[in-house]
Amino acid sequence: MSEQQIHRADANESPYPPVPAVREAIVDAAARINRYPEVYPTALAEAIAAHHRVPVDQVAVGAGGAGLIQQMLHLVARGRRRGEVLAAWRSFEGYPLIAEGMGVPLRRVPLRGYAHDLAAMAKAVRRRTKLVFLCSPNNPTGVPIRQDDLERFLARVPRRVFVVLDEVYRDFATDPATADGPATLPGHPNLIVLRSFSKSYGLAGLRVGYALGHPGPIAALRGVTMPFLVPETARAAAIAALAAEPEYVARRRAVTAERDRVTAALRAVGVDVPASEGNFVWLPLGARTAGFAAACRARGLQVHSFDGEGVRVTVGLPDSNDVLLEVARSGEFVRG
Ligand SMILES: *Cc1c(COP(=O)(O)O)cnc(C)c1O
Repeated sequence: MSEQQIHRADANESPYPPVPAVREAIVDAAARINRYPEVYPTALAEAIAAHHRVPVDQVAVGAGGAGLIQQMLHLVARGRRRGEVLAAWRSFEGYPLIAEGMGVPLRRVPLRGYAHDLAAMAKAVRRRTKLVFLCSPNNPTGVPIRQDDLERFLARVPRRVFVVLDEVYRDFATDPATADGPATLPGHPNLIVLRSFSKSYGLAGLRVGYALGHPGPIAALRGVTMPFLVPETARAAAIAALAAEPEYVARRRAVTAERDRVTAALRAVGVDVPASEGNFVWLPLGARTAGFAAACRARGLQVHSFDGEGVRVTVGLPDSNDVLLEVARSGEFVRG
């Protein structure tokens, strides 16, 4: 076996290790790990509130975006009347996965092309619908929801239905038409915005995310938070990451520049890549999906393959992205 480098491009992780200040915060906190953390990470919630310039009662911290999705579904599941949730499809696999685990029925509304079909989703809302997941930019297609479309959707959906705008990739968006969840909160008490430190701050291993919303729903989410949920290491890392925002901004810029380079290069060899606003690209390869993923694997590039549909590839450092382009340029899988 040659010593081939493995490029992990299958989970939308950051290719960068933590910045030095974050690493130091983790090491410092490790010395206190014999102690329980705070029951609820108040200082972190305050740092997040300051970052978004909202009052702290509009922030709920959780165990990654996934943990908060579970908390939201918990609220749906425990009501007196059995509720259901809606999500676009294909979208984040976590929605149906976590919903199924909690016994919450989830109905899928097909994408229109690569984007949410918000008109169809608004129409799909019925009496027992309690929550709608919107993913912007959408995982795995990368296409964001536009601000005007979000506002039209919110105007059509009854206020008793929670609209969860999953923006875990929002920090990678460069198109100014992309919906801005936090800016949309005023006047929309049923909107909940979901963010995470996993992708935009490269802290996937520490499991910290948060929701922004009006005090009522945020208090309900906090009411179903497990005590001592966020370890001291994660709490310290997330606070240090927010304080190092300029460094993360620079990293995200490097990733989005690579994303746009990769998109153009893939299109030049005939792959119909939708314009992504996330840190990943979607290659709708249909029947050629499995072959393409195998060719990537053979060159040490792990991608996320959705059989018969397409391949999602995380944008990494240039050498990782170049492996993807080599496979695409080899042509055999692309022109079919
Ligand atoms: C990765 C991801 C999440 C959750 O990530 P966490 O690591 O749990 O914060 C949520 N939504 C989408 C769309 C994702 O891709």
